[in-house]
Amino acid sequence: NQKVVLITGCSSGIGLALAVRIANDEKKRFMVYATMRNLSKGKALIEAAGRSLGRTLEIKQLDVCDEDSIKACVDSLPERRVDILISNAGMGLIGPIECQSIDEMRNVMDTNFFGLVRLLKEILPDMKRRKKGHIVVISSVMGIQGILFNDVYAASKFAVEGFCESMAVQALRFNLNISLIEPGPVITEFERKVYDEGMKIDLSKADAVTADMFTNIYLKNYKQIFETFGQSPEDIAEHTHKIITMKDPPFRHQTNTLYTPMTTLKYADPNGDLPIDTFYKMVFEHDKVFNASLNFLKLLRWRSQKSFTLDKDKDKDKDKNNS
Ligand code: NAD
Repeated sequence: NQKVVLITGCSSGIGLALAVRIANDEKKRFMVYATMRNLSKGKALIEAAGRSLGRTLEIKQLDVCDEDSIKACVDSLPERRVDILISNAGMGLIGPIECQSIDEMRNVMDTNFFGLVRLLKEILPDMKRRKKGHIVVISSVMGIQGILFNDVYAASKFAVEGFCESMAVQALRFNLNISLIEPGPVITEFERKVYDEGMKIDLSKADAVTADMFTNIYLKNYKQIFETFGQSPEDIAEHTHKIITMKDPPFRHQTNTLYTPMTTLKYADPNGDLPIDTFYKMVFEHDKVFNASLNFLKLLRWRSQKSFTLDKDKDKDKDKNNS
């Protein structure tokens, strides 16, 4: 009685790690359809899948920007059944908006946001009919909090979160679960691609202050942020595996406890100024960073006490389910 899992964007990074982790579930509870836009990019997944390939893992073509390809993929599954959909395919974009074309921005929205919408238009009606299903979306901490020079990317993830939050109420009525996985920085191709694109940006359309901010502050710190905070795709896969095996999965799940103090700032101030001021100080007023860091640590302590209680409750739930 295996659950059917369909994952998008599996040729690299988090999608690849997710496919391998879930296909290698200790109790073989899942049949994974690992999908990718371009099947010729399947080599890394084929190698990583090892013995699970052809047993608990199968590779299929799916482009989240193409409705026909989504339909063809779902039609090819036995009874078109998807028990767990993991919407992972996505792309990044950094830089001053003066230097980005509307087409580039539209591409990000089309992949990150409309990609999810297209998947749900195809899969949700069947899930509703069966009154069973779990929709898991790889969002980002940038789905709850904007970050300097990630304006359009953050907007695409905010769109995803608003969409899912609205949908979650309807989903309850059909006994369906929706979960947003919110990683902080993850060390994947994504990080490298986004950085390389960032380095190539023609900054002549931006004023000197903006161009300097992007080159000498943002890009300079970019790699260090990933090195300090970065998780591996396998970490994200482990977290997601845990979420899909829970009886009562949460709506939101942040994977990185080092990052939670930052997102907590958002909830700590209803006026919304605290996170913006803090980011500003971190970026421009290094001498004030000490105070900001102190606030982070206080919040971290508060948060970890709180999440400890939550984890304990979840463990209790798990024990109940196992017994
Ligand atoms: P990645 O670039 O390795 O993976 C993204 C995958 O999506 C690639 O395999 C790419 O080919 C695929 N993809 C892009 N457009 C597609 C389309 N139209 N149809 C099908 N597949 C398509 O990067 P990643 O870090 O593994 O990213 C996976 C998800 O995680 C994304 O949604 C991203 O926004 C999110 N995320 C990444 C980070 C990070 O720091 N890397 C942090 C938080 C969230």
